[in-house]
Amino acid sequence: MHNVTLIKGDGIGPSIMEEAVKIIDASGVKINWEAADAGMAAFEKHGSPLPDETLASIEKNRVAFKGPLTTLEGKGFRSINVEMRRKFNLYANVRPAKIWKGVKTPFKDVDIVIVRENTEGLYSGLEHYLTREKDIAESLAVVTKRGSENIIEYAFKYAQDNDRKKVTVCHKANILKYTQGLFLDTAKEVATRYPDIEFETMIIDATCMHMVMKPQQFDVVVTTNMFGDILSDLTAGLVGGLGLIPGANIGEDCALFEAVHGSAPDITGKNLANPTAVIMAGVMMLNHLGEHQAADRVKLAVEKVIGEGVYVTPDLNADSKAGTIEMGNAIVDAL
Ligand code: NAD
Repeated sequence: MHNVTLIKGDGIGPSIMEEAVKIIDASGVKINWEAADAGMAAFEKHGSPLPDETLASIEKNRVAFKGPLTTLEGKGFRSINVEMRRKFNLYANVRPAKIWKGVKTPFKDVDIVIVRENTEGLYSGLEHYLTREKDIAESLAVVTKRGSENIIEYAFKYAQDNDRKKVTVCHKANILKYTQGLFLDTAKEVATRYPDIEFETMIIDATCMHMVMKPQQFDVVVTTNMFGDILSDLTAGLVGGLGLIPGANIGEDCALFEAVHGSAPDITGKNLANPTAVIMAGVMMLNHLGEHQAADRVKLAVEKVIGEGVYVTPDLNADSKAGTIEMGNAIVDAL
């Protein structure tokens, strides 16, 4: 029996997480789901978007499965997602994007894994005004040698363990010579320890162009926090949309699994949200828990349902009459 903290989240979160939990339970793996609140739901219930009980539950279980959280607007609130990643030092954010059979996109054979540094860079949260008039603001991008080494080492190890051939390091060291330069120099050092894996470096703006022109040239891509955030939405666009891309946030002691997408207020309550991203985040979680057989079975079931293209949400098939619930049920049936 595994103990997992379950945060259903905001917006479309509860509806897609319900399907994901139903499917993971149907795989036969025994999970004791410990429900916890975060985000808007937690703020309304407990007066805090990240209550101590939730943090204690994650600390105890060391594995969390999380729906998207709405970032509260207003100066007092930082992103709860950023807060959680920093609190548990979830330094590696792994976001695989692959074209599924049956998904219509203008591209072919895309299979890219973005490995994003998750705790440093411009998302360090060090921002302030420099004047009383608040007409000059400053953000600090903190990059450390240790943080860079951890994430780049993680990317190479991921490539090695998952039979990947190449690691591309994306950076902007030509302009940001200290922060990005440190990241790039560290990457060059780490790469020497992995002679069997092809290594290339690419400037981030050129990466965006190459990724749209010829995405097949990319395999594992490792980069700093904000570039990784942006690139992973770009890869989502290449493979059929945000409804398909899962993410794992990995640290030394804890791991948190979620979709790349947010709480999607525009489609909340309409049974339109694609549950695939959170289901595949669940697959990543099952692998993390050592439940590889169940992970493979769930993946195959999702593959079958998407491949048939009938019981899928309208983002995958505009003529589909099925929604979140019907897609979830079809995946359980396929299991
Ligand atoms: P979003 O990812 O919620 O939505 C962007 C677009 O993608 C929308 O058109 C939406 O309908 C579509 N989309 C997203 N998920 C989908 C799904 N599963 N199926 C079908 N379509 C889907 O981004 P946003 O609207 O910019 O952000 C909404 C809120 O979510 C914000 O408060 C933001 O801060 C938060 N957010 C949270 C996370 C997280 O919890 N990890 C990530 C990103 C954004």
